[in-house]
Amino acid sequence: SQASNKHAANSQGSNTPEYSKLWYPYAQMKSLELNLEVVEASGVYLTMSDGKRLIDGISSWWCVSHGYNHPELNQAMFDQAQKFSHVMLGGLKNSTTEAFASKLVEITPEGLNHVFFSDSGSVGVEVAIKMALQYFFNQGNQKKTRIVALERAYHGDTTACMSVCDPAEGMHKMFHGITPEQFFLPAPKGGFNASTETIDEELSKAETLFQTHGESIAAVIVEPLMQGAGGFNIYSPEYLNRLKALCEQHDILLIFDEVATGFGRTGKLFATNHTDIVPDIMVLAKGLTAGYVGHAATLASTKIFEAFLSDSYSKAFMHGPTFMGNPLACAIGLKAIEIFERDNFLGNIETIESILKEELLGFEHEEIVETRVLGATGAIEVKDAKFHQGIQQFAAERGVWIRPFERYIYTMPPFVITPEELRKITGVMKAWFARPR
Ligand code: PLP
Repeated sequence: SQASNKHAANSQGSNTPEYSKLWYPYAQMKSLELNLEVVEASGVYLTMSDGKRLIDGISSWWCVSHGYNHPELNQAMFDQAQKFSHVMLGGLKNSTTEAFASKLVEITPEGLNHVFFSDSGSVGVEVAIKMALQYFFNQGNQKKTRIVALERAYHGDTTACMSVCDPAEGMHKMFHGITPEQFFLPAPKGGFNASTETIDEELSKAETLFQTHGESIAAVIVEPLMQGAGGFNIYSPEYLNRLKALCEQHDILLIFDEVATGFGRTGKLFATNHTDIVPDIMVLAKGLTAGYVGHAATLASTKIFEAFLSDSYSKAFMHGPTFMGNPLACAIGLKAIEIFERDNFLGNIETIESILKEELLGFEHEEIVETRVLGATGAIEVKDAKFHQGIQQFAAERGVWIRPFERYIYTMPPFVITPEELRKITGVMKAWFARPR
């Protein structure tokens, strides 16, 4: 067989090293060393192969909001699997997926009335961008083909997503030049309570861009209130309120990528709830399924939806991922929202925020540029990315799993974490600065 031939080639003394069969994400596979293996997980704890338990300080890339191995989520998934675990949405309806769409319309800001499902945050963003472009094409406008994004943005790893990620320092800069060319505005500064002057200055740049190129711009896409992978850059709701008004003046759509901020991470159910506006299109993923399975929802206003209606098929939205609206994902998502509301997760998040503020804001060290907290996110920005080399091992030895990147050491815990567990995370983060060097 092919497999045994491959094996034979290796054992016959070829110089091919024993590379990992599994290709890991964002990793230099030549030097990657993994010595932490998860064998079980429950609540906020990961149990490792050596029996040690680590508190997951980052909710498995910010998605496991309800903790691992949640009995009710397990049950919801099992119950759905007993009926059917998957069925296509092309030409067939099912009550689980329908109910989930209705629930999302109910809990998201007023006006987002239509839900298009897909299977990951990146694809949800691709769908949003495609929807914005086709909204104009369907009205006979072929000129609006470009998207405006913010510097420091991160919207995912697929092609259209890469085109709206930070062009200068972002991890996809290698691909700029072959991805669609977009416009970028400076990342908003000044934090949650930025001054009017700061916002005036930033939005004057948007205004100039819109005046010059508005005819070719279909949409602006932002991570509302907090740019996540771009370094936890927290900014003002007022910036978003005024950006929306400017977009309207120039017939430009506003897309909120709430993949990371959605479902409580910023302290309200959606970051949009901190603002006075509703975007035309909003993308949800990560917490959508409490981190159980990959899924995304792209919600659109009725104005967007109506531009796809016609007596001819040509205006239909030609998109349909195989696993869109997967009933397992939808059953889990429905139960996750029920638990979120019933168990007052927003209350938990308020407690998390106040502890993070107490522990991190004002924490000083010569290596620290700034500490930032919003909702259930706490980040420490250091001067040099090299500073946190070794921190993962250090934290793991002390019972905490974190994974810093670039110049950021951060926590985004599951919402079921207790104050003691959270203080353990922040304690370890701070101990790293105090360690003898
Ligand atoms: N958008 C934002 C704001 C994100 O933070 C991420 C992932 O971190 C994505 C999109 C991509 O989501 P996914 O990894 O599910 O494709």
